[in-house]
Amino acid sequence: MVRVRFAPSPTGFLHIGSARTAVFNWLFARRYGGRFLLRIEDTDQKRSEARYLEEILKDLRWLGIDWDEEPVFQSRRFDIYRAKAEDLVAAGKAYREGEAVLFRVEKGRTIEYKDMIHGPIAWQTDDIKDQVLIKSDGSPAYNFSCVVDDGFMGISHILRGDDHISNTPKQILFYEALGLRPPEFGHMPLILGPDGSKLSKRHGGVSVEEYKREGFLPQALANYLFLLGWSPGEEREILSLEEAVKIFDVAAMNAVQAKFDIQKLSWFNAEYIKKAGADELIPLLGIHLLEAGFDLASSDDAYIGRVLELYRVRIKTLRDFPAMVECFFRDDFAVEEGGRALLDDPGNRELIADLAVRLESIDPFGHEAVEKLFRERAAERGIKPAQLIHPVRMAVSGRSKGAGLFEMMEVLGKETVLRRLRRVAHGSADKA
Ligand code: GLU
Repeated sequence: MVRVRFAPSPTGFLHIGSARTAVFNWLFARRYGGRFLLRIEDTDQKRSEARYLEEILKDLRWLGIDWDEEPVFQSRRFDIYRAKAEDLVAAGKAYREGEAVLFRVEKGRTIEYKDMIHGPIAWQTDDIKDQVLIKSDGSPAYNFSCVVDDGFMGISHILRGDDHISNTPKQILFYEALGLRPPEFGHMPLILGPDGSKLSKRHGGVSVEEYKREGFLPQALANYLFLLGWSPGEEREILSLEEAVKIFDVAAMNAVQAKFDIQKLSWFNAEYIKKAGADELIPLLGIHLLEAGFDLASSDDAYIGRVLELYRVRIKTLRDFPAMVECFFRDDFAVEEGGRALLDDPGNRELIADLAVRLESIDPFGHEAVEKLFRERAAERGIKPAQLIHPVRMAVSGRSKGAGLFEMMEVLGKETVLRRLRRVAHGSADKA
């Protein structure tokens, strides 16, 4: 039976690298019909905090990762680690040094194992010094509690970061001493920052929580994370966790380090935003709009949904949304640089005033009817439609770019559009 685990230390938020470890263990369990367990490595009582644990569990769920049994907490098992260490002392395999207990490493041996990702790896015990099992404060050393618990939890396979690769021979020695069969190990190359050094705070966002806040969708982040370490083949890139589960193959995991590329992640996110259901996006966009200080009292979900459809293909993260759609939620939207000049131009004011009068009769105020009027009016006046479109776009949205003007006007509604056009026609745009 495949049993794997994710073993976070609740001493900080869920790091992108740890999240990737969790995703791979989860994929492994689900792919091979096994169980995915959690172990909370809270042996450092000073640095472990309940709020971090809560956040880690929340972020895992957010990513779409579920677990099968109640999490095991190491802080509740100190007596067991000490008892196991005492057993090793009694068997002559460990010794006391003050309050601490140390494991005696037998020299002159070779420890070999076959890593699921790197292939055969060998270590000489001559290079390994005696190992602390229990520290003098009574708490267990990571390598020891890890082995006791992986044995206790019946873990069959361990996928973790390359930063643990030098721990593995020590852990294998402990398994042997405790009379347990070691699990299979696979070490994943670390995620690098764009400059080629290990991904760290220096590189910007490193916690899942930050990406969530920045408006990344969990499906996009999960997808991006499992591609940092595994190639599904056939140049497939966009696939959900469910799809990945069907074809995941640990043998196809990469042994070389991958760079974390925010551009690529943003591209993934944009793809997922394009496909996401409006019912999923609208509440999330509502949060971003509120955070950006918009008053949504008179905007229902249906309205946000219509604005979403205008901008869906233009946003890379949900965070991009508020800045692009300001004009849909307030009359006093910012006017971009150069926009004022366009609106102050007497010729443009006249065009806008004339158009406002004609738009009044359009009912219902649909984008096709509005467009038809623009084109007719431009033809009658012998000007290009763009000469009308640019100032009107600026008058109703304050921006020279955005969704199609006629669709925007339809969503804004006749009343709002006319109010804004008249405001410009009467030269009161600055007071907006
Ligand atoms: N708490 C350890 C870590 O987060 C777990 C390592 C392991 O998977 O054995 O790195």
